[in-house]
Amino acid sequence: MTSAFFVILNEIALVMGKIIDLIKTGKVLVSDGAWGTFLQQKGLLPGECPELWNLTKPGEVFEIAQSYVEAGADMIETNSFGGTRFKLEKYGLGDKVFELNKAAAEISRKAAGSRFVLGSVGPTGKILMMGDVSENELYEAFKEQCIALEAGGADAIMIETMSDLDEARLAIKAAKENTSCEVFCTMTFEKTVSGEYRSMMGVSPTEMVEILSGAGADLLGANCGNGIENMIGIVNEIRQANAEIPILVHANAGMPVYCDGQTVFPETPEEMATLVPKIIGAGANIVGGCCGTTPDHICKIRKVADSIY
Ligand SMILES: [Zn+2]
Repeated sequence: MTSAFFVILNEIALVMGKIIDLIKTGKVLVSDGAWGTFLQQKGLLPGECPELWNLTKPGEVFEIAQSYVEAGADMIETNSFGGTRFKLEKYGLGDKVFELNKAAAEISRKAAGSRFVLGSVGPTGKILMMGDVSENELYEAFKEQCIALEAGGADAIMIETMSDLDEARLAIKAAKENTSCEVFCTMTFEKTVSGEYRSMMGVSPTEMVEILSGAGADLLGANCGNGIENMIGIVNEIRQANAEIPILVHANAGMPVYCDGQTVFPETPEEMATLVPKIIGAGANIVGGCCGTTPDHICKIRKVADSIY
């Protein structure tokens, strides 16, 4: 009776509450796993536009979303990582930004039921510092994508795999000023030879927190990288820089290994799940996976998270 009551409360919270509100109640949430490597498994060819599948193979994309819901994720992403104008133009799809991103969010929305949908926004591939692009052009590209993701039903905008602080800041600003979604941002850090964590553009987790919380991000964190073990140190550093900001971790299934013409991610679901208590102990509020993680990884992470809370 009592547990049934709490299950109902939980379901209501998932329907009603924003993600940050749920985190504030002390809940640790589970996110989903890889999309890119999953699409490749389903037959996405090198050089093919992943986002085009939202229109040409929506059933396949839906199956990915659904498999993460079935694995126990509280939130699922959208197939829109490369959905800015700059990335889509490379495939001659620059006029389809709205259509492809809206379809991405609609597919995940349909699979998510009462779970949350995180509209994925990746880097544009343009580098401000090199003069490839102006701040205004970047802002407009993110604005266009975020509006479409919200129109398709995204609850939050998940800006991810960022390495440049200015690009991340402009993406956050565009999402904040043009949607009513919660705005999350994760950067990708590697461990340097001296044992510090830095993005490809030299940004530390501490610098990320200082600049991007000021830019209005509702949540910060890290994704991709070389496996879940490094995430413990990264989360510690973020938590030390800011005691309050909610933290999300999407770790790769280990360091990618090139084997027989294929990239293989070696960490098993069990290996990843073993480190989840340490990640949560360091201060992470949402745990999920990045490249190479599968529904089985998410299922094991769910079990561990449930056993702690
Ligand atoms: Zn990744």
